[in-house]
Amino acid sequence: MNAMNQLSRLSTALVGAGPANLAVLACMQDLCPDLVARTQLIERRSNSDWHPDFRFDSSTLQVSLLKDLAFTRDPTSKFTFWSFMHQQNLLNQFIHLNTYYPSRSLFSRYLNWVQDHFDQITRFDTEVTEIQPAKDGYRIRLAEGEDRRESEILTRNVVIALGHEPHMPSHLKCGDDTFHAIKFQSEFERHRHRKDLRVAVVGAGQTAGELIQNLMRMENVSDILSLSRGFLFRQTDDNPFVNDLYTFNGMRKMRDDAPIRRRALMAELSNSNYAAVTSDILQDIYRLNFEDSLNDRQRLRLQSHSEVLEVSKVSEGLRLVIRDGLGNRQVETVDLLVACTGFRNSRHLDLLAPLDLRLNDDGQIAVNQNYRVEGTGPQSGIFLVNHATDTALAEHTLGGLAGRAELICKDLFDIDASWKPQSTTQGQLATAAV
Ligand SMILES: Cc1cc2nc3c(=O)[nH]c(=O)nc-3n(C[C@H](O)[C@H](O)[C@H](O)COP(=O)(O)OP(=O)(O)OC[C@H]3O[C@@H](n4cnc5c(N)ncnc54)[C@H](O)[C@@H]3O)c2cc1C
Repeated sequence: MNAMNQLSRLSTALVGAGPANLAVLACMQDLCPDLVARTQLIERRSNSDWHPDFRFDSSTLQVSLLKDLAFTRDPTSKFTFWSFMHQQNLLNQFIHLNTYYPSRSLFSRYLNWVQDHFDQITRFDTEVTEIQPAKDGYRIRLAEGEDRRESEILTRNVVIALGHEPHMPSHLKCGDDTFHAIKFQSEFERHRHRKDLRVAVVGAGQTAGELIQNLMRMENVSDILSLSRGFLFRQTDDNPFVNDLYTFNGMRKMRDDAPIRRRALMAELSNSNYAAVTSDILQDIYRLNFEDSLNDRQRLRLQSHSEVLEVSKVSEGLRLVIRDGLGNRQVETVDLLVACTGFRNSRHLDLLAPLDLRLNDDGQIAVNQNYRVEGTGPQSGIFLVNHATDTALAEHTLGGLAGRAELICKDLFDIDASWKPQSTTQGQLATAAV
């Protein structure tokens, strides 16, 4: 027998240890704990930190903490944010902070705390590089550790939640001094002690807002050129009627709607999540700019309806060629360019390419109400979370995540109940070196 024939099978492989799969695991532990022992959580990074390279002291959660990994599914779950605070002996003090919007670093600690419960079944520093169909399930290829040691696992089901990849238009990339905001903390390290830093920020969404707010707090930054194709800035629409769509029921309602009406609604309400900045950040930027004026300085330069056409390296820094709304060209010189140019949702497409799945009209993989991929017959056991962004506004947010996790878990449970694997050894890691 070769190594693969000796493999025992997992019931489920969860790919990506972000909030989506942690919510699935929390639900699994609450509803069907037997399944947890036959599950693995696979993450290419070495922990479940939440966007650590774009986090400032002032960064807070943009949704209510009650939309944590479990609370709206079951307020009595031991995986709620409140349980975390209680277990850390911080609940009383937290209550007195009077907020539902804790810091992102605290929320990140909460995510790591949830993950800690599943250390036995987690494989960090392990990237899933390929998913192939196999008899009665899937064969997953892994690259582990710095030396990218290869191995494979066999599994009945795969839940894929890879997150979205940063999008940096190629014409903005020109050496190390141009980078995407999601890498800000590590890239900025080299420049932290430089004097009179001139920074161009491209984009007008929440990331651009938070970045500008924090650049304005840095004394060594002398010039912030903020560039956007549209008006700078538009405020996030977070009125409660719109927020109702960022809940589990709101998501279901949108998904059940006719595609033409759903797409129109998503376009109409896009400023509830995209290319807009929350009012607290806008107020703070405005206040910091006012303080600059009181001190006879003007560091923030807002340039609406402007597009960067070219970036090149010159002896004084980076030379930007910019076109304004009237078609006029302008040249600016800065030290750094930070692209707040959003994210793309295509990572999963490469991974799933060998399965030859059906794409819908928007080039996305179609999923059913339980986030199970359609079109691979009754045997399908592939689930996609936070990748079906055409189905509801709240996809790729924490909105409705706990409820979505419950749908997936119940489906996994049903599949498992009817599944008769040929060589299952419960509780064993189903891995072989290849
Ligand atoms: C700076 C920032 C702040 C945000 N703040 C909020 C907020 O306040 N509220 C909100 O609702 N949303 C917010 N979002 C959106 C947020 O990203 C999502 O709500 C949430 O993180 C999505 O969870 P996820 O698990 O789907 O993806 P992610 O959190 O992106 O996690 C995906 C994980 O998969 C791993 N992975 C990827 N590929 C592989 C592979 N091949 N093998 C193994 N592992 C892999 C990644 O390393 C990552 O850890 C924010 C996004 C950013 C960038």
